Amino acid sequence: MSGEAVRYEASEAFARRMDAEDPLRHFRDEFHFPRHHGEPVIYLVGNSLGLQPRKAKPYVLEALEDWETHGVEGHFRGSHPWMPYHELLTEQTARLVGAHPLEVVVMNTLSVNLHLMLVSFYRPSGDRRKILIEAGAFPSDQYAVASQVRFHGYSPEEAVLQLSPRPGEETLRTEDILETIERHGKEIALVLLGNVNYLTGQAFDMAAITRAAHRQGCRVGFDLAHAAGNLQLSLHDDGPDFAVWCSYKYLNGGPGTLGGVFVHERHARDKTLPRFQGWWGHDKQTRFQMGPDFEPIPGAEGWQLSNPPILQMAALRASMEIFDRATMPALRRKSERLTGYLEFLLEQLPPGFVRITTPRDPQQRGAHLSLRFSKEPRKLLEKLTAQGVLCDFRSPDIIRAAPAPLYVSFLDVYRFAGVLERHARD
Ligand SMILES: *Cc1c(COP(=O)(O)O)cnc(C)c1O
Repeated sequence: MSGEAVRYEASEAFARRMDAEDPLRHFRDEFHFPRHHGEPVIYLVGNSLGLQPRKAKPYVLEALEDWETHGVEGHFRGSHPWMPYHELLTEQTARLVGAHPLEVVVMNTLSVNLHLMLVSFYRPSGDRRKILIEAGAFPSDQYAVASQVRFHGYSPEEAVLQLSPRPGEETLRTEDILETIERHGKEIALVLLGNVNYLTGQAFDMAAITRAAHRQGCRVGFDLAHAAGNLQLSLHDDGPDFAVWCSYKYLNGGPGTLGGVFVHERHARDKTLPRFQGWWGHDKQTRFQMGPDFEPIPGAEGWQLSNPPILQMAALRASMEIFDRATMPALRRKSERLTGYLEFLLEQLPPGFVRITTPRDPQQRGAHLSLRFSKEPRKLLEKLTAQGVLCDFRSPDIIRAAPAPLYVSFLDVYRFAGVLERHARD
């Protein structure tokens, strides 16, 4: 594929040509697909649970075999000793999110990490005690924020400030976010946004929001559950104080697998930040002296609590190696075309049948499109499933379709649109 804009065509031949010219097309073969009548399904739910990399099983088996063979000695022996195992993911994770290795760590799970980051970066005092979030943020984020606010002795009603779209609009305008930060900046302790928004598919201008918030003296964090492995991120340069994400959505690390954390370099050696401590965050040289005083590892690793689950990490390693070979810039290039193609095909459907609520500007979205259907969305979802197409449904009428560029083809997208068209005409 060349760099210039593509003129899309609504034909199978065109979709096949796009696939033939796609330099990433072979990565599809590195994943297991669920089957429908013997054929791989059209998998548009990689934003919910990514597919299993073929290498995941051998990597997990390798860890099991090291345990079988070496017992506790596996911490230091075997194919990949467990002691430094999480470090196998550090460089790749840093490349994935545009960070320095010092700034990232793979540990725990998303909601746990969000709490750990809130402990360090939500420090209400005086009049500056609010957290700014999106109205309708992902439930776990809302619960985490409300409980942290209460933990500090405030009520969510007074301390949680919510961003809502303008009346009649479905997504937020950057100018409105910036304006809210400017107007309420002195009362805001932390700006926390989900990027990409899980429901609308909207991506935010991280650099502009971070700059505006820092100008007001607020801390800034991002929940990147729907951005890691989806958007091309530059966390270090954009400069938020922290970010958290999970690795089972676009990152294909397996159900319930470990999350990722970014802590900006400016906080790497700050020992005055309050944090919840555990032995795995302690200086590696002296950790096993088992002394009473905590000496944090500089950078994100200093927030680790426990020694990590190696079997989960083994599966995640398989996927992170794929991302490293595919590279985020190339994936993002394909993703914009693939989602653009989906958008183009949806526009050919009978008027009034479907409305795309995700922003049309590719800069303001990732892979997924949120679709509102006028005609029996639940029945449509059943039809899709019956024809080997997996999407997901969010009440009352939203179907999310995420063509993840690692393993979804242009032909998949074309066929998905074909099922929609038949439903529209039935
Ligand atoms: C998926 C998702 C979560 C899930 O949290 P876990 O702790 O991994 O279960 C949280 N927040 C957002 C925004 C998500 O999209």
